[in-house]
Amino acid sequence: MLKLCKKCLVEKPIEQFVLNKKNYYCSPCRGCRRLQTKKWISLNPEIYKQCRKKSNEKYNNKNISIKDYKESKAKYTKKIIETLADTYVKSKLRGKAKVTTSIFPPDMIEAYRTSIKIKRLIRGAKNEQ
Ligand SMILES: [Zn+2]
Repeated sequence: MLKLCKKCLVEKPIEQFVLNKKNYYCSPCRGCRRLQTKKWISLNPEIYKQCRKKSNEKYNNKNISIKDYKESKAKYTKKIIETLADTYVKSKLRGKAKVTTSIFPPDMIEAYRTSIKIKRLIRGAKNEQ
């Protein structure tokens, strides 16, 4: 699948575009986005510095211990495995292949999710016997 970048006007494969949180692809390609950000930083160095400082402070103030961090990470991982979140299903689909998970269409992810559910169901039934 190809998509036209509105910035450099080049047709590029869909993996070259960032998928945003609302699940559609941003119009400038990754390269153009990077350039845009760089340009913005060079035009607004003070704002950028302040933003960086703010986010650093926020992070430092959190003061989470490594133990807490590991616990919350483990909790998160458990949750995405239990709920079969997209991130988990995609990573299982990809396996050890070094490819971007954006190549998998949603219906394929859904189908794989179903197959995991079936495996879990069978395992659960076995354990009950
Ligand atoms: Zn572009």
